[in-house]
Amino acid sequence: MNGRTRWLGIIGYPIQHSLSPLMHNAAIEALGLDYCYIPLAVEPRRLRSAVNALQRLGFRGFNVTIPHKQRIMAFIDRLTPEAKLIGAVNTVEIQRNRMIGHNTDGRGFLRALMEDTGRSVAGKRVLLLGAGGAASAVGFQLAREGVTTLLIANRSSERAHGLARHLRGSSIQCSISVLPWTDKAIERGVQQSDIIINTTSVGMSPADPPLISSSVFRSNHVVYDLIYNPPRTALLKQAEAAGATAISGLGMLVHQGALSFEIWTGRRPPVEIMREAILRAIVP
Ligand code: NAP
Repeated sequence: MNGRTRWLGIIGYPIQHSLSPLMHNAAIEALGLDYCYIPLAVEPRRLRSAVNALQRLGFRGFNVTIPHKQRIMAFIDRLTPEAKLIGAVNTVEIQRNRMIGHNTDGRGFLRALMEDTGRSVAGKRVLLLGAGGAASAVGFQLAREGVTTLLIANRSSERAHGLARHLRGSSIQCSISVLPWTDKAIERGVQQSDIIINTTSVGMSPADPPLISSSVFRSNHVVYDLIYNPPRTALLKQAEAAGATAISGLGMLVHQGALSFEIWTGRRPPVEIMREAILRAIVP
């Protein structure tokens, strides 16, 4: 680091668990760039002053994680159409004292899915478990890519209906329905879908109950869990046992990060080096 080093970072609360500094600094080092990416714990009540400080200190940009992805939109000068549609910002670009809010989660998810399956999602039927910020990004991307049916199930049905209304209202041609958060309805949803995606945080802890009670997976199902730590959740193990394609959230983490990196530096980062940096940290 020196007087010309450009600053990047991630704001969240708490932030200790974040693996983004590892993968971004690995990419910076591999490309020999004069940047440094740091984790920043920002309490919700200090969000506005922290964002202003980053701008005044000359940061090039930063990532945004839980719990700030929605609230930060009020402090941003311009939102990309994608961030506006998704209703959340995960990447901020600072250009001559103007802050631009992006969201790379949806495109990161899609790149990872394509990389793992080699197939387009157009014409597929999808069951989306969860209706939070990540579900919104994934839902918009899937609908934009020509998914025919999107079934949404969430513990809080109000939130599921809110996401369904939001997706329907954005002139996207896709049939969107909400399922009750019951074992029976979710199992029926699995049977009616080609791709099953977990966007809830259930599965992060080994003590979490199974999301889907019995094994209803078929070998032609694609099961995608946005969780990347642990690398193989109970849901993915169930899917593997049925011979289905099981994909963890690691690829999405790497690709959403790679898209942010490109926005800040104008360079394509080495995604394999980013992936290895994370794997070293999470695989025992
Ligand atoms: P969020 O906005 O807080 O949403 C959390 C979701 O999890 C909601 O649908 C919530 O349901 C559900 N949930 C939480 N606890 C639950 C429980 N005990 N039973 C049933 N449902 C429960 O968070 P987010 O930003 O969408 O993130 C969700 C997950 O995606 C996290 O695990 C996060 O790490 C992961 N993620 C991964 C990536 C990646 O790059 N791989 C990117 C973004 C997020 P309610 O609405 O009922 O509370």
